[in-house]
Amino acid sequence: MKRIFFASLILFSILSGCNTKEDSFLEVDANSRSLNFGVEASYQTITVDANVAFRATSSHPEWCTAVVLNFPTDNLGISVKTNATFDVRHATVTISADGVADVTITVNQLSATPVLSVIQNHILIGGSLDFSLDVHANFPIVFDLPAWISEKEGNIWTSGAKKYSFTAFPFFDPLPSREATITVRAASSSVNIQPVSVSIVQLSDGLQSYVTLKCDFHIHTVFSDGTVWPVTRVEEAYRDGLDVMSITDHLEARYRTNLPAGYTLQNTSHNTSYDLAEAAAKEKGIILIRGSEISRDVPPGHHGAIFLSDCNELDKSDYMDAFRAAKARNAFLSFNHPQYSGYGNQINVWFPVLTQLLSQEMMHGIEIVNNDYGGYSPIAHRWCLDNKLTMLGGTDTHYPIPAFAVGKHRTMTLVFARSRTPEAIYEALMERRTAVYHGDNIIGEEKYLKQMFENALQWSMVKNGNNVEVTVKNNSDLPFHMKTANLDPRLVVSVYSFTITPKGTYTLTVSLLEGITGGDLNFSVENFLVEPNVGMKYTVGI
Ligand SMILES: [Zn+2]
Ligand SMILES: [Zn+2]
Repeated sequence: MKRIFFASLILFSILSGCNTKEDSFLEVDANSRSLNFGVEASYQTITVDANVAFRATSSHPEWCTAVVLNFPTDNLGISVKTNATFDVRHATVTISADGVADVTITVNQLSATPVLSVIQNHILIGGSLDFSLDVHANFPIVFDLPAWISEKEGNIWTSGAKKYSFTAFPFFDPLPSREATITVRAASSSVNIQPVSVSIVQLSDGLQSYVTLKCDFHIHTVFSDGTVWPVTRVEEAYRDGLDVMSITDHLEARYRTNLPAGYTLQNTSHNTSYDLAEAAAKEKGIILIRGSEISRDVPPGHHGAIFLSDCNELDKSDYMDAFRAAKARNAFLSFNHPQYSGYGNQINVWFPVLTQLLSQEMMHGIEIVNNDYGGYSPIAHRWCLDNKLTMLGGTDTHYPIPAFAVGKHRTMTLVFARSRTPEAIYEALMERRTAVYHGDNIIGEEKYLKQMFENALQWSMVKNGNNVEVTVKNNSDLPFHMKTANLDPRLVVSVYSFTITPKGTYTLTVSLLEGITGGDLNFSVENFLVEPNVGMKYTVGI
């Protein structure tokens, strides 16, 4: 009624010619001063009673707009967009005209209701390390993860239902499993919703779930400074029982001049040795990994680069460019033979550039055993333990390898891989699942060596009065050089040191002092090196 009255008044004023500046007015009914909108986009009109031209502006034009319409009533349209946020939001529409006071209208819009649900409430990891969560969320979310789980690439939030991918780090422990919780929550604390928890259990992944592959990742041919044709390298590897080999000809030291017709080192691709060996390796069932040796003076010295796509990409004048080219292909990189006598007074030196390479992920392992040029380096062994680097043992062979006598073997890296594939070998190298087999020694992390030891041996005991006969049967091809250590003084052992020969059996007698029924028999396995020149401790209860 009031509107009609004012409208009539305007009409009357115009008709009667009595419109004066003193009489300018602009008013909005109190009920229209505060407008409420739902979550969805919508539109309302209000009536502005005015006898002058007016305009309207919104404080939040990105979601609330006001448009002046030309009707005497319902002459201001206010629209809002859908509120996808989880906050109630407010805008102010200011109506103004010349000569009158502004009138403000408050626009209120309800917030969206946050939705967060996860289909899985329990995840079990065993075998594959990858898993995913099916999450429905209409707001950005984050995952609170235990240290041993990481998100995979591609977990970009989009509103609605989506699969998010994760991977666990390998778990290798005497314990059968480990447990944790993943919490899925809103990225912003302004979204008022309870986080969702998913319990997660990972089963321990012992050596039994890996295949042990015999590998030599350091071999030369006539295509650098060796004297052996690539195909012959494959034949040697086959004879020596290798599963995996990499020919790593020097990128820089290329000396041979007596190559067959058609080959010259200067004009030959760095891939030639791989290309020539490839068919033979395939025929023999040997996995051939493409590699090169970056061979500079110290520092940085020689570095193995394997799992390359094209060895020529590493042929750079600046050695850092060679490392960068290798990294660009996700190559596995190792510092080779720090113990090499040719390094003069720089043998077993940790050069500052090694720290740089390490920090830039351009050094993943160290050749702690180089069979032909320096043997075992306890110092390099220590570096691997301290810097969590992969332990490698290679032949670095340049000349023909004669056949090994029975009981002897080629120096090699044992790789504990999920399967007999290049991808699994790469993964194992990156995850430091290796041990070095050199002479009678196995060198590596205790968690692997202990399982190798336990898998190889069977223990049995016979009590006879105060004596216990302890018999150990060796089912493996490895000898075990044992020493008694830190003996319980109440146990008297017949020997100080002994060897359990490959496929052999050994019996020792333990005498118990009067009144003693048992105790711990402590050994050091002298040829299982878990620390530089330190054998693995092992205890047998009797
Ligand atoms: Zn070298
Ligand atoms: Zn070499």
